[in-house]
Amino acid sequence: MNHNITIAAISTAKASAGLSVIRISGDDAITLADNIFKAKSNISLSQMKGYTCALGEVYSYDEKLDECIATVFRAPHSYTGENVVELSCHGGVYVTARILRAVYDAGAQPAEAGEFTKRAFLNGKMDLIEAESVMDIISSRSKASVRAALNVKDGALSKRIEKMKSTLMNKAAHLNAWADYPEEDIPEVEDIELISTLQAVKNELDEIIQSYDNGRILKDGIDTVIAGKPNVGKSTLMNLLAGYDKSIVTSVAGTTRDIVEESVTLDDIVLNLSDTAGIHKTGDEIESIGVEKARNKLSAASLLLCVFDMSREFDDDDKDIIKLAGDIPSIAILNKCDLKSAFDVQQVKEHFTEVICMSAKNADGVKELVQAIKRCCAVGDLNSNHTLIYNERQRTLTMKATTCIDEALQALHIGMTFDAVTVSIEEAISYFCELTGERVTDEVVDRVFHNFCVGK
Ligand code: GDP
Repeated sequence: MNHNITIAAISTAKASAGLSVIRISGDDAITLADNIFKAKSNISLSQMKGYTCALGEVYSYDEKLDECIATVFRAPHSYTGENVVELSCHGGVYVTARILRAVYDAGAQPAEAGEFTKRAFLNGKMDLIEAESVMDIISSRSKASVRAALNVKDGALSKRIEKMKSTLMNKAAHLNAWADYPEEDIPEVEDIELISTLQAVKNELDEIIQSYDNGRILKDGIDTVIAGKPNVGKSTLMNLLAGYDKSIVTSVAGTTRDIVEESVTLDDIVLNLSDTAGIHKTGDEIESIGVEKARNKLSAASLLLCVFDMSREFDDDDKDIIKLAGDIPSIAILNKCDLKSAFDVQQVKEHFTEVICMSAKNADGVKELVQAIKRCCAVGDLNSNHTLIYNERQRTLTMKATTCIDEALQALHIGMTFDAVTVSIEEAISYFCELTGERVTDEVVDRVFHNFCVGK
């Protein structure tokens, strides 16, 4: 990719809205925008300082397309580190597309997916971890998730990695100097001190790796299956949590025959809910397929919400439901607590991680359910202010660095030469460099930005 080429794209969603922003970035961004934009004040964009804007009109040749605000950013003080002009126009899909076409006609090239952020990375405006967090901010579905991604964007994780890298570099430099210049007066490398430094780095890496599961929960949510025999209130619960009628609620058993799915955010936790067909022995062919689907869904779930009807006696179908609560965290929801209880709670208690009573119909007990979910999935103390690793690339490299530190520690423990220790430390440093993007192949960079949207 040639960095001098000026690129452009619509940076806002491609939908009718109050405003749309067309971003132009590259050496010629300002002069190019001057060819299509006429400021009401007659000042040209080329005469304007960075971080200033002008009201004017955009033209395609002689045809006036729209009135808009042009904001000028001058390199390196822009998102990409290049000259940037952002045109804020009226948010119609058609008018925005026409303006973008005019920008192309003036000489800009269409931006590839993630190309603005890629340029920001290549121009040193952010490292690879921070660039990845931009996508995480965009795709966040809860406040905690945005907070965590913003934290990474602000360099919280990068700073920790940099600090560990710097510690290891100092150790590697000392080890190399000591080995290469024995005649010089270089202080001896102390085993104990080296072990303690490496152990501290390892502990920190372990902590970061452990944050991956929390990061995934914040970002992707918890795959949750709602199960129970027919008519216990599964669909009512689904609708309550979704905040609108997603599933059909009737007093006729067996109405949910397919899986109904919805993502909901409860107190900062995203649940990817699947309301399944009532699981029970059935002669109905369509219902049987639904039951089978429910069982399959369960095998890939991370949380099971088993619903029971408290107003009815515990029976054989309930017994079958209990069997579903296998290895995954499971919560027994004793529903219809607004009615007189006929249910033997002892029958379910020992089989579930948590047992709660609620009335889905009256929206009673949601708070208790959320607390139970948090305890059950160990997200109670999930702190979005901590630095979390969010993706597989970051996790794999962090784990590889940890393995190197383990090898270095092992070498020290069995009394191998410092050469072997140095090799492992240097390898760990190279994984840190790959993590932040300091030393990374074009292929990896392309892969990171591949998942971005055009305009970001
Ligand atoms: P599903 O077959 O398990 O999905 O059950 P539904 O959600 O369709 O509910 C079956 C019936 O139970 C409907 O008539 C609901 O209004 C009723 N129901 C659901 N939850 C409650 C509850 O908490 N209290 C009472 N009294 N009725 C409920």
